[in-house]
Order: sequence, then structure tokens, then C-alpha cells
Amino acid sequence: MKFYWLEYSTKDHPWKYSVIFYVWWCNFNCYWCSNTKLSQLDFKKYYKEITKEEIETAIKYSPVDMIILCWGEMLVYSTDEIIKEIEYLRALKKNILIRIDTNGSFYKKMVELYNYVDWFWVDIKWPYWNYEYFNEIKKICPYKNKTKYKKNNYKDIVLSLKLADKKEYTIFRTVKYPICSEKYFLEIKTWAKKNLKRPHQFNNFVNY
Ligand code: SF4
Repeated sequence: MKFYWLEYSTKDHPWKYSVIFYVWWCNFNCYWCSNTKLSQLDFKKYYKEITKEEIETAIKYSPVDMIILCWGEMLVYSTDEIIKEIEYLRALKKNILIRIDTNGSFYKKMVELYNYVDWFWVDIKWPYWNYEYFNEIKKICPYKNKTKYKKNNYKDIVLSLKLADKKEYTIFRTVKYPICSEKYFLEIKTWAKKNLKRPHQFNNFVNY
């Protein structure tokens, strides 16, 4: 598995000092993605691969207690490849925690990885459970592969949310896209409150 960016953070997970590793590619094409360059085909113009030495230095010789595997979309890769990477990273520091960030569109892979990660971070980008918002949704986040862009795919994302909810420290997040209505966000907030045990938060939209 190859990473193309790394950074440290005290903000991405409450009470944790994290190192975040970024992979290439994403199956979504979200409105105002904060990471467009790394989820596009020409990403190598902007990024170079992080070496093993850089990974090991970042984990062994810094006080990080958590690794975040992040976008593009981590789960576009095979679970075998991800598990191998997780095992390698865990071996670098005793008791290190591992979080995977995902858009939730790979439910089966989340099931396979469930016992290998400490928790997930899942974006609730739209009200997947309510087709009333389908047209509004299309403006926000179409799949890159248009053939996959079907209502049935959303059922999998709801299953992903419910699976992630079983992990004690999972956090759910929704970005307040300025092109969505308040009704849209209220629908998400109400559903999350009713259906999820773990915290759900709204993040302000940042114009990158
Ligand atoms: S899921 Fe995340 S990485 Fe992928 S396009 Fe959307 S915002 Fe960007």
C-alpha cells in the first residue's frame, strides 16, 4: 500500500495525537472535496510516495498514539492489502490505535476489517435513507463511476453507518455544504440521533 502524504494532528480525534496517512483515489466525486488533487488521476504531479523510513520515523519517534488511514478513500483497496498494512503499522508501536476514515460505500470491506481497526470515522454526506433528497444528493456527491450511481448503493452505506456505530469511539460527521437546505441537515441530524449511539457532529464548510 502506498501513501502520498502524511501529517500530524491534535484536532482530528478528541484527546489523541494522530498521524494521518493519505492514500490515492476515491470512488466519489464530492462537491468541493478537500482533497481533489489526491483523488484524481494526475495526482503524481502534486505528490510523491511516502517512504518506509518516513512512515517509521513518524510513528516510532514521535509521541503519536493514533494512526488515521484516510482519503482519497482507503477502502478502494483490497482488504488483504489493508490488513497487511495495518499489521505492519501496529508492529511499529505498542498499543497504537488505528482509525479508518471512509465514505461508507464499501460495507462488505468494513465487515472484513472490523476486527482489525479500533474505530471508524464515517461521513454522513447525505440522507442515504430518504429518497426524497435524491436530486439534491446528486449535486453533492456523485460516484465517479456513473453505473454505480444507483439508489441501491445507498442501502450499503446505511449498513456501514450501523456497523461503525458498534465501535465505541466511532465519530460521525456531516459537512455543512452551503448548497444544501437546512431541511436536509435537519433530516440527517434527526436520523443520527434516533439511529446511532456514537457522536455525530457538523463541520463547517471550508472553502479550500
Ligand atoms: S469521499 Fe472524501 S475524498 Fe472522496 S471525493 Fe468525497 S470528500 Fe473527497
